[in-house]
Amino acid sequence: NSGVGAMQAVLTVDLSAVAANWRLLRDRAAPGACAGVVKADGYGLGAASVGRALLAAGCRHFFVAHLAEGLALRAALGPGPMVAVLNGFAPGEAGEAGLLPVLNGPGDVAAWAAAARRAGRRLPALLHLDTGMARLGLAPAEAEALAADPAALEGLDLRWVMTHLACADDPAHALNAAQAGRFAALRARLPAAPTSLANSSGLFLGPGFASDLARPGCALYGINPTPGQPNPMRQAVRLDAPVLQVREIPAGTPVGYGAGWAAPRTSRIATVAAGYADGYLRSLSGRAIGVIAGRPVPLVGRVSMDLITFDVTDLPMVAPGDRVQLIGPGNTPDEVAERAGTIGYEVLTGLGARYAREYV
Ligand code: PLP
Repeated sequence: NSGVGAMQAVLTVDLSAVAANWRLLRDRAAPGACAGVVKADGYGLGAASVGRALLAAGCRHFFVAHLAEGLALRAALGPGPMVAVLNGFAPGEAGEAGLLPVLNGPGDVAAWAAAARRAGRRLPALLHLDTGMARLGLAPAEAEALAADPAALEGLDLRWVMTHLACADDPAHALNAAQAGRFAALRARLPAAPTSLANSSGLFLGPGFASDLARPGCALYGINPTPGQPNPMRQAVRLDAPVLQVREIPAGTPVGYGAGWAAPRTSRIATVAAGYADGYLRSLSGRAIGVIAGRPVPLVGRVSMDLITFDVTDLPMVAPGDRVQLIGPGNTPDEVAERAGTIGYEVLTGLGARYAREYV
């Protein structure tokens, strides 16, 4: 018994679409390699399952954000592939898991160089240079200081030098070329190491953004890396939730918390088993659509914790047990995000743990 009941919503993840997306991105990254970014539990889709699918497709480099994510991914993927931890971790914390830390500041560099001296061997790591995001990574002056003091890197085996683009989803933004230029200038002054630059959108910016290792995340999962243009990626996620009840209400009857929406006519309301506790964002209240049997139905009333309500007056055949597609063709994560006033990343990573999951 999988515990999946008829009353439960099901999140279907198409791993062959994820693998196909990775191959498309890999071809764009060539002749550089292409990693898979599977932080935040594979953008909410399940890092172990996504990771195994990418490994089978040929991906040999993975990025997570947290140490615990790295340990879990190593357990799922075995000893072969590179697993790098973007937020870093302290020497010794990863045990024998063979995870690579990303060194995000001079303190990280010093700590890992000291650990290498203690261990009497070179320790592998990635070095992150901040070229315009002011978030993580060595600030330009810190990178200059490091370049002037090569002994600071002694004991470190720099596998990759990386930076991250702030505006790659806006190809016209001047910061893109500025970051690529600063990156090239800084790394020329540091010990030679392969480079890692583009995220998903960065892979579509052009030849100036080529590097030895691309780091796409969102596009693997079907998010459009080229906003404003047709989405070249395959959709990988479908969310279907069951209708629990259907009721007919007279005109004027309010529906849901706050009584903010009232039926303009005699209406049939389908109550469906998903809510904001499942990442079905409350800001979708009154703005989302579901799809039943290929037909769009409007969400009415507020999204509550475990329940949402749709006006199915125009679909008289809808009955309890029917499934409403909340995410899928016609309401992709990007489209749901736009209705909610957010980005597809937040829709996916917010999906929560309560859905039954099926991998196909
Ligand atoms: N590299 C770094 C440092 C990141 O923080 C992220 C995610 O935000 C990625 C790569 C992947 O970016 P995207 O999902 O936009 O492809």
